[in-house]
Amino acid sequence: MHDACGVVGISLSDTTANVSKQIYYALYALQHRGQESAGIAVHDGKVIRTHRGMGLVSEVFDEAQLGLLRGNVGIGHVRYATTGASCIENSQPLMAKYKDGAVAVAHNGNLINSRELREELQAAGDIFYSTSDTEVMAHIFVKELMRHDLVEAVRGMMRAIRGSYSLVMLLGDMVLGIRDPLGIKPLCIGQVESGYMVASESIAMDTLNGRLIRDVRPGEMVVIRGGEMTSYQLARCQGPNYCVFEYIYFARPDSIMDGRLIYDVRVNIGGMLAEEHPADADTVTPIPDSGITLAVGYHQRSGIRYKECLMKNRYIGRTFIMPDQSMREAAVRLKMNTIRPNIEGHELVLVDDSIVRGTTSRRIVDMVRNAGAKKVHVRIGSPPIVAPCYLGIDMASREELIAAYKTVPGVEAVINADSLGYVSHDGLVKAIGIPREHLCMGCLTGIYPLEIPGEKCQVAQTKITEYIE
Ligand code: SF4
Repeated sequence: MHDACGVVGISLSDTTANVSKQIYYALYALQHRGQESAGIAVHDGKVIRTHRGMGLVSEVFDEAQLGLLRGNVGIGHVRYATTGASCIENSQPLMAKYKDGAVAVAHNGNLINSRELREELQAAGDIFYSTSDTEVMAHIFVKELMRHDLVEAVRGMMRAIRGSYSLVMLLGDMVLGIRDPLGIKPLCIGQVESGYMVASESIAMDTLNGRLIRDVRPGEMVVIRGGEMTSYQLARCQGPNYCVFEYIYFARPDSIMDGRLIYDVRVNIGGMLAEEHPADADTVTPIPDSGITLAVGYHQRSGIRYKECLMKNRYIGRTFIMPDQSMREAAVRLKMNTIRPNIEGHELVLVDDSIVRGTTSRRIVDMVRNAGAKKVHVRIGSPPIVAPCYLGIDMASREELIAAYKTVPGVEAVINADSLGYVSHDGLVKAIGIPREHLCMGCLTGIYPLEIPGEKCQVAQTKITEYIE
């Protein structure tokens, strides 16, 4: 499974301050949300300057580059491609010009009607430079802005687009933070020493020694300018649909999202797994890193000792040279190795966040068996993933999802486990502590909060979005 994107926007009241370093550090904190490209756009008092590149934040920026991005207001983005190819044209922040200036846009999410909107815009003569849906939004916004004031222009854009979007925009010396009416992807507001910020996760604020104020509400736009923040509730829906995978996997455990510490939610999920799927074992161990907090929860609820048995190499970057066939084993062991003395002769509960294709799980189960495990009971902190995500996560196609065509015993056999247990839908909802009707569980149920054009999908409950004048 791949991450989505991370966004940040900061406005400092001191016009002589330089915001680019703060955005850089915030993007570093959000790096887990996307490693494919990174970018920063800063307003220098007159124009917007941007720098974008392929790779990690540390690969894209250096001191000299940040020195050129002068200004006290700016936005940033880290990307994992969900729509559009992996190329520099699709990296963000994306710029769109109009007669009175320019706007830079950073987006986390996925529009489900971007194809038809793009076709309409192209038919009207618009030219696109990327294949991303973010450019579609930028074009619509700019068109609206030529006819209306800012608030009406954003409302007009929101009426046209459908899907998930947590947006950060830079318009002149203003930072805008906008969350879709269902609040599918996260966005929060924080305070830093001399200004305000919006970001995908609260850890971006922690990194800057700032303070989380609250989440951006579904359907809300916040405008930050000159050290002041104003809120506009532009749309209201019958309750949100937060993405459950933020709680299970995407967000960092030290983030607070929609009022919940992700660490606590994952410990709860692990505890729920222990209740629903106890195991006759002597050791609970995580598949690092995402299984760690879940395994802590399983250990606490079951009383079975916790011991790490697998070590991940965190330093394999984008430029890692994939070895040829003869070195394949070395490649696997470079990424993850076993701590043999902790495994040999033991009966393990192996905890992970999800099973997508099943190939990674099989490889790890084989690895711990080869290291001498007597039994391997696999426990998964999400219910089976049975359907793709159309709302911003690049998971896999339906054909690739093992649980879409195999039962739990079928998956158990494929991954070579002695037993396999997934947390139940009810258990997950209870562990998160948010009512089920306020969560998106599309990839776990095949029932989505929105009708997906061109796909035969069920819709949970048609929630009416009201646009507030
Ligand atoms: S379909 Fe799954 S991954 Fe996609 S937004 Fe919904 S819960 Fe999240």
